[in-house]
Amino acid sequence: MAGRSRIWTEVDFAAPGKQVSYLHLPYSVTRSAYGTIAIPVAVIAKGEGPTVLLMAGNHGDEYEGQVTLTKLIRKLEPDDVRGRVIVLPAANLPAALAGARVSPLDGGNLNRSFPGDPDGGPTAQIAHYIDSVLLPMCSVWLDLHSGGSSLDYIPFASIHLSGDPALDERALQALRAFGSPLSMVWAFFDEPRMATGSAHKHKLVYIGSELGGTGSVNPEGVRVCEEGVIRCLAHMGVLQNQAKFAVPAAPRIRLTELAGREYYVYAPDAGLFEPACRLGDTVREGQIAGHVHFVDDPAREAVPVYFRRDGLLVCKRHFGRCERGDCLAHLCTDYGG
Ligand code: CA
Repeated sequence: MAGRSRIWTEVDFAAPGKQVSYLHLPYSVTRSAYGTIAIPVAVIAKGEGPTVLLMAGNHGDEYEGQVTLTKLIRKLEPDDVRGRVIVLPAANLPAALAGARVSPLDGGNLNRSFPGDPDGGPTAQIAHYIDSVLLPMCSVWLDLHSGGSSLDYIPFASIHLSGDPALDERALQALRAFGSPLSMVWAFFDEPRMATGSAHKHKLVYIGSELGGTGSVNPEGVRVCEEGVIRCLAHMGVLQNQAKFAVPAAPRIRLTELAGREYYVYAPDAGLFEPACRLGDTVREGQIAGHVHFVDDPAREAVPVYFRRDGLLVCKRHFGRCERGDCLAHLCTDYGG
């Protein structure tokens, strides 16, 4: 988009030191004619070095990253840093405060809104600010997701293949440094409106994640996230004082990939889904993933749902009820396997 963002801030991104403040998105409504949505932002900077954007709350009901970054803002000090760390712990703040995937103000899904629009609704304006103001300052972006309300995930960090082998190699090194025991390469990707699309346009190393789900906070996901963020900052040379954070060395990771749409399982009918497998199961092509039951028509036979590939069950739908077309599960396979 050609226009300039109307989001303003007291933060001086060029200043050394620690600033914890807000991005102000003008939002004029009955209860507040000249009001703004105050989106929290922190900048911790000292000396020359790379700039890393740490972000959570892209989806408001994905909590492990929000917990991690809220704690990190209180703990990380300029003396710990060489370069600059910009932290957005609740990027789509209205969604985060509502505990919802999308914004209650405009229905906007931030991770389907890039590169955004300065003249659009609040969600499009946030995407535009990230794309046009923040990303040009950065070389690395950690965008911390989870499964949200409707999905449950085995916690992992991930990269998306960009089509640029040199950039993908740098991202893979960062992913190994993050060190989530299970790690993922998204090789299947057809959604340029996601954050990763903007990241690759700006030639940034982009690390994503899926750290749990079920609309709650997964403590194991928080641990994976906290340790991974610290190891990643150290890998980038931004963290100078790693001992303060007492994080163990990265473990040996199981690197997996999601190679195509056929690794997803979708509901063939609306009903009540009874899964036949648990997260972490290794499943086979043709194996039954579960059955859709019709509690309002009990004489009707349940409809079986099948896996279409071999793989590791890494994600499953959390809610019992499903509509036709809902994603019920997806698999991953060993990278390059
Ligand atoms: Ca997400």
